[in-house]
This record gives sequence, C-alpha cells and structure tokens, in this order.
Amino acid sequence: MKCWEFKKCGRELNGAKSKELGVCPAYPDDGEECWAIAGTLCGGKVQGTSAEKDGNCRLCEFYKKINEG
Ligand code: SF4
Repeated sequence: MKCWEFKKCGRELNGAKSKELGVCPAYPDDGEECWAIAGTLCGGKVQGTSAEKDGNCRLCEFYKKINEG
C-alpha cells in the first residue's frame, strides 16, 4: 500500500489536492518510504528533510503500519 492510498491525502498525480501544492515528491516511487523523502506534503504543508520530519513521521499511522506491522 502506498501512503497516498492509506492517508487519502489527494496529493498524488491527479489527486483531489494535487493542484494546491503540486504533486507530492513521494509519488510515484516512494509511497512505501515517504518518511525518507524530503519536502513531502503531509498535513498540507511542505515538510523538511527526513531528519527534520522524523518526529512527525514516527507518529504517523502509515509509518507505524509499515514499520511496526
Ligand atoms: S508523503 Fe504524505 S502527502 Fe505525500 S503522498 Fe504520502 S501521505 Fe500524501
């Protein structure tokens, strides 16, 4: 499962919110490890580097699903 499918963020190509901030850089190849991608668009704002957003990502239900099973 890709993060945009799980989170229903609409920031994938042709997604409902893809016009707002553009298509998320996790799309199309990194939807299973979006926490490693800088500048993703979770929460409707451009996130920082993977180091900067690590704290937020670890709270994310998708991150927990993939990493904690
Ligand atoms: S990283 Fe976040 S904003 Fe980007 S596609 Fe995945 S869930 Fe959506």
